[in-house]
Amino acid sequence: MSFSDNVARARERVAIRTGAFINGAFRPAISGATMPCVTPIDGSELAQISACDENDIDDAVAAARASFEAGHWRKLAPRQKRDVMLRFAQKIEDNAEELALLETLDMGKPLSHTKAADIPLVAQAIRYYAEAIDKVNDELGPSPENAVSMIVREPMGVVGAVVPWNFPLLMASWKFAPALATGNSLVVKPAEQASLTMLRTAELALEAGLPEGVLNVVPGLGEKAGKALALHMDVDAIVFTGSTAVGKLIMGYAAQSNLKRVALECGGKSPQIVMEDCPDFDAAAQAAAWAVFYDQGQVCTAGTRLLVQNSIKKDFLEKVAAIAKDLKPGDPLDPETAFGALVDETQMNSVLSYINKGEAEGAKLVCGGERALGQSGGFYVAPTIFDGVDNTMTIAREEIFGPVISAIGFDDFDEAMRIGNDTIYGLAAGIWTADIDKAHRAARTLRAGNVWVNCWDGSDITTPFGGFKQSGFGRDRSLHALDKYTELKTIWIELRK
Ligand code: NAP
Ligand code: MG
Repeated sequence: MSFSDNVARARERVAIRTGAFINGAFRPAISGATMPCVTPIDGSELAQISACDENDIDDAVAAARASFEAGHWRKLAPRQKRDVMLRFAQKIEDNAEELALLETLDMGKPLSHTKAADIPLVAQAIRYYAEAIDKVNDELGPSPENAVSMIVREPMGVVGAVVPWNFPLLMASWKFAPALATGNSLVVKPAEQASLTMLRTAELALEAGLPEGVLNVVPGLGEKAGKALALHMDVDAIVFTGSTAVGKLIMGYAAQSNLKRVALECGGKSPQIVMEDCPDFDAAAQAAAWAVFYDQGQVCTAGTRLLVQNSIKKDFLEKVAAIAKDLKPGDPLDPETAFGALVDETQMNSVLSYINKGEAEGAKLVCGGERALGQSGGFYVAPTIFDGVDNTMTIAREEIFGPVISAIGFDDFDEAMRIGNDTIYGLAAGIWTADIDKAHRAARTLRAGNVWVNCWDGSDITTPFGGFKQSGFGRDRSLHALDKYTELKTIWIELRK
């Protein structure tokens, strides 16, 4: 079967929602404008999605505000909120097959990954925060005998969430799950390339019992809908995952408008460091490859700077290259495929132009470097490795967001630490070493929100996720995420004699 036959068959098994979801119902953009939703699997159009603007955002924010003020969600007893969210998680699981297909159709990652990771992790996130609702206590202060001081968390109010396309529903769930658990109402602006799962999920939340107006989804362009949300005077907090450049704009919009609270999860250029005393070179080679080839490299924590000690670099890169050469891009809908399409043609061309820059600046192409499966009409780039990269080259400094490894040599530990930290980003870093002193020293020296030792991407919903430096601030996942969605209030009560 051709890629297009598979797309047509998958298309019949999913519910494609194209309107904005506001106050519990879908409707077109007020202006009537639409934007194409293209599947990168074969480049065909799946649907026209509403392209919303500030008028739709006004409408969605008003719905969120009304639901918040009425307290239909906020004032529910904790256990009632918990039960609704547990049903919501169950709805995601009951519809996992469809959501996985939708995600793969929309943004081209392998169905094997959306089924095994993206969608189950969404259900897990919702369940984790649901269970926190009736277990996280507020505080009493150490007040004097004649007073009681209470330190309570209160919901922010209306939360705006602007999310990216690389893990469309998962990144959104890391926002909406803790925001809902803390009693907020939301307006979510999905990425223009991948709105389908978030739109469908809002409908599932309603079916699970989430009151109308609590979770609204407004698809549209970032410069219109996203900007209007971040500038809105009646939005209390804006949470964002995406590029550092847009993260800076979001901060500006908050400053220009109502000083809404801001939390940003932005990009990365993460170093994965392999020392000559690495305890398991095969495992490290697998990790080095998958740290960049998973999701076709469209991962904010991708270990794109592969730092290898010069004494072992040649042999080690041969191992990584062998894995890369085996990893053939394939039809994302084929259950055997482990490496799929890039999200769209623009992204593919951007990755190819970074590859050209790498060659022009003198890096040595070891494998890949070209478009693949062009006859399908889809947007594929072969797994690519550059050796001989210097940390000053563009491919070592800028986030490519594609399947491109930049291998950089170093002589000793201190040089590895220096190069590792020589970046504007600080999202993740990792080291492979059998020496416990080096491991601990690296973990303390590397400036990143996540540091991995003898693994890559070790993570769980129970641990915080976010960046240092220009990778942003605020943390998703874990109970720390609740801080982003709550204001602390001190209540001081003087006791009368
Ligand atoms: P992006 O271009 O920054 O877009 C992210 C979101 O912002 C999209 O919804 C986008 O809308 C919107 N947006 C664009 N311009 C805007 C504006 N002027 N005002 C308000 N919103 C605006 O990022 P992306 O290309 O979707 O995603 C890739 C980036 O996300 C990478 O840099 C990656 O590292 C980062 N990322 C970070 C994390 C993390 O947790 N740290 C996780 C995943 C991804 P449109 O879709 O219409 O452009
Ligand atoms: Mg799409």
